[in-house]
Amino acid sequence: MQTKIVDKAYSFRITPNKKQEELINKNIGCVRFVFNHFLAQSKDDKYLSYSKFATQLPKLKKEYNWLREVDSISLQQSLKDLDKAFKRFFKGLGGFPKFKSKKNNKQSYRTQYFKRSSGTESIEIKDNKIKLPKLGWVKFRKSREVTGKIQNVTIRKSKANKYYISVCVQEEVEELPQTDKAIGIDLGLKDFLITSNGEVVSNPRTLSKYENKIARLNKRLAKKEENSNNWYKVKNKLARVHEKVANIRKDFLHKLSTKLIRENQTIVVESLKVKNMLKNSRLAKSISDVSWSKFVDYLSYKAEWYGKELIKIDTFFPSSQLCSECGYQKKEVKDLSVREWECPKCHSIHDRDINASKNILQQGLQLQLASR
Ligand SMILES: [Zn+2]
Repeated sequence: MQTKIVDKAYSFRITPNKKQEELINKNIGCVRFVFNHFLAQSKDDKYLSYSKFATQLPKLKKEYNWLREVDSISLQQSLKDLDKAFKRFFKGLGGFPKFKSKKNNKQSYRTQYFKRSSGTESIEIKDNKIKLPKLGWVKFRKSREVTGKIQNVTIRKSKANKYYISVCVQEEVEELPQTDKAIGIDLGLKDFLITSNGEVVSNPRTLSKYENKIARLNKRLAKKEENSNNWYKVKNKLARVHEKVANIRKDFLHKLSTKLIRENQTIVVESLKVKNMLKNSRLAKSISDVSWSKFVDYLSYKAEWYGKELIKIDTFFPSSQLCSECGYQKKEVKDLSVREWECPKCHSIHDRDINASKNILQQGLQLQLASR
């Protein structure tokens, strides 16, 4: 079995104590300050590279003593981020770097793993605690074992004022056993997905409950006076429910993508799924669109890790309208209300979504054959 080294990220919620919480908040502020400080000194024609920035950092720390209270590696990381933003700009890949604000940017900072000559490590995990520079040991909710070599950790404060870490590791993974199974997947309207084997995978049941809650809270928020105490209370509650939904979704997408990759050698999906979801609210539509692209993302890197193949087919392929038995195209099936239809040519009776996923599979296998 072949093995390879891959980058993996593990996310956990951490539960810092009051003091640690204050320090995290301070650190996030300092990282933003350093970024903005050096950005303010840069202009189109005058840009300092990371090494120049870094040599000026000690001077800045002397000027602003409070910068010394936080993780010094994270300040350097912030300069690397600024350097990267400039490089993107000069390559024409992005706009001129923007100042970071508390309101518009992620509340986070990143720190790097290193080992001192004395042998102590900057980041360590022991049981359900993680050691981070300046913070010391912080408790976290360990939902799975972290394997591999730690590279860096991002500490993030969410909109609901909860704290999370994302631990990036380099890990050796072993390819999964090869099978001869192939599967086509269609994104459902009512359900999350339908496979060419006729399997229907529903959205996690808890989700609709939370989505109703979000709708109710949004209504309540609209009735409150903006920026009043009660308005903030409802807004915070809303952020918490949103986070819960995001976490449930992520977990669901991870488990499902791993299962599909494990069971199949070839997986075929449509590359960009923009379905006209007339019956769904805008919220539900945006959630399912985001989920789909995330799901395809997960499938893509897991296929790469485990020696499987993901084939993406063109969105313009009329997967719903073709008869998967004889290839006849029935344009009327375009209408989303058509759930079941009969092929006028070969008289097969089709379930709309299962037929579509069978077509997706066939199209994908043709592409696979053509590329060999
Ligand atoms: Zn037919």
